[in-house]
Amino acid sequence: MKLNGLHILLTYQCTFECDHCFVWGSPWQDGVMTLDQLHKVLSQAREVDSLEWIYFEGGEPFLYYPILLRGVQMATAMGFHVGIVTNAFWATSLTDALTWLRPFADLIEDLTISCDLYHFSELNSPFVIHASAAAEALHITLGTISVAQPEETNISRQVGQIPSGSSAVMYRGRAATKLVGRAILKPWTNFTSCPHEDLRDPGRVHIDPYGNLHICQGITLGNVFTTTLREICEGYYADSHPICGPLLKNGPVGLAQEYDLQIEDQYADACHLCFESRRALREQFPGFLLPDEMYGN
Ligand code: SF4
Repeated sequence: MKLNGLHILLTYQCTFECDHCFVWGSPWQDGVMTLDQLHKVLSQAREVDSLEWIYFEGGEPFLYYPILLRGVQMATAMGFHVGIVTNAFWATSLTDALTWLRPFADLIEDLTISCDLYHFSELNSPFVIHASAAAEALHITLGTISVAQPEETNISRQVGQIPSGSSAVMYRGRAATKLVGRAILKPWTNFTSCPHEDLRDPGRVHIDPYGNLHICQGITLGNVFTTTLREICEGYYADSHPICGPLLKNGPVGLAQEYDLQIEDQYADACHLCFESRRALREQFPGFLLPDEMYGN
């Protein structure tokens, strides 16, 4: 496995509780990485030669502002490129946004802001506008994540139109519960490959506040609080992983078939079948399908 990026979920907590959230972020979630744990994770990251980028995300990482800032300082001092993903809840005015962001100027190389109708009631909310203007003023490169509504994705499958700059909903995490009712369903046998993750050689992985290393949200390869990141990467054999192996053979269909799961006739997309199959397999593979937070428990 040749990792280029490590995404640190500083917390599962978030100011929002979006219907499309992969990680079930909400104000009521548990799980926050401590500064000591963060230092341990970054030290391990340094042992992986191919790693260049560290992203801080969540949940909402700005909820733990001093820890986020210290983490960014540590990561840049170690020579990593650093980015942050945020919902910009903190950008209540341009002046305030500049105050929040200024300490990160010259440290981060990317600020990615979630801006869609799941987070705010308008696409370009004042929060997004203030955060974007502050980033521009501080010469921080800005990115956006915008996820389309299910109906827009449905339309795109019929006539090829999805709003420019948006990506389609992936029906995993909370979306598999909250948004599926608005999706056009298709036969389960359609989903014979994983469309979004390179499960054999992922370029980036996520570490959650409990140390779980996720190849896709809720599919874990090990825990960096008990085994080092480098050892986990070196010991990963995709074909023998009980979840990734079947997914690699025949996608979510392969996962359901491998374990003879009782499934529905139709699903919204590959992630929906994958997520529901994994939910059904959690008791059988407790060491690979965790934590509870990723499954809405
Ligand atoms: S099919 Fe499964 S492993 Fe692949 S991206 Fe979707 S949820 Fe993740």
